[in-house]
Amino acid sequence: MGEELQEEDGPRELMRKCPKCQRYTFSEICPVCGEKTKSPHPPRYVQIRKFC
Ligand SMILES: [Zn+2]
Repeated sequence: MGEELQEEDGPRELMRKCPKCQRYTFSEICPVCGEKTKSPHPPRYVQIRKFC
Protein backbone atom coordinates (compact mmCIF):
# COMPACT_ATOMS: atom_id res chain seq x y z
CA MET A 1 0.00 0.00 0.00
CA GLY A 2 2.40 2.66 -1.08
CA GLU A 3 0.53 4.71 -3.57
CA GLU A 4 1.80 8.20 -4.04
CA LEU A 5 -0.36 11.03 -5.19
CA GLN A 6 0.65 12.27 -8.57
CA GLU A 7 -0.11 15.86 -9.26
CA GLU A 8 -1.47 16.39 -12.69
CA ASP A 9 0.13 19.36 -14.32
CA GLY A 10 -1.65 20.35 -17.46
CA PRO A 11 -0.70 23.88 -18.31
CA ARG A 12 -0.57 22.96 -21.95
CA GLU A 13 -4.27 22.29 -22.02
CA LEU A 14 -4.80 25.88 -21.03
CA MET A 15 -3.17 26.99 -24.21
CA ARG A 16 -5.58 28.54 -26.61
CA LYS A 17 -5.25 29.38 -30.22
CA CYS A 18 -6.56 32.36 -32.09
CA PRO A 19 -8.39 31.21 -35.22
CA LYS A 20 -7.72 34.51 -36.86
CA CYS A 21 -3.98 34.99 -36.54
CA GLN A 22 -3.13 31.43 -35.56
CA ARG A 23 -1.44 32.64 -32.44
CA TYR A 24 -1.21 30.69 -29.24
CA THR A 25 -2.12 32.44 -26.03
CA PHE A 26 -3.28 31.72 -22.53
CA SER A 27 -5.96 34.37 -22.72
CA GLU A 28 -9.50 33.65 -23.82
CA ILE A 29 -9.28 36.68 -25.99
CA CYS A 30 -6.47 37.21 -28.46
CA PRO A 31 -4.29 40.09 -27.26
CA VAL A 32 -3.41 40.87 -30.85
CA CYS A 33 -6.69 41.08 -32.71
CA GLY A 34 -9.17 40.70 -29.89
CA GLU A 35 -10.69 37.62 -31.43
CA LYS A 36 -12.05 34.92 -29.18
CA THR A 37 -9.52 32.15 -28.91
CA LYS A 38 -10.36 28.51 -29.10
CA SER A 39 -8.82 25.50 -27.51
CA PRO A 40 -6.88 23.46 -30.08
CA HIS A 41 -7.82 20.37 -28.17
CA PRO A 42 -11.53 20.43 -27.41
CA PRO A 43 -12.43 18.56 -24.26
CA ARG A 44 -14.21 15.35 -24.92
CA TYR A 45 -17.11 14.21 -22.93
CA VAL A 46 -16.02 11.60 -20.48
CA GLN A 47 -18.32 8.69 -20.72
CA ILE A 48 -18.39 6.63 -17.60
CA ARG A 49 -19.36 3.09 -18.30
CA LYS A 50 -20.42 1.05 -15.40
CA PHE A 51 -20.10 -2.66 -15.64
CA CYS A 52 -22.50 -4.28 -13.28
ZN1 LIG B 1 -5.70 36.93 -33.04
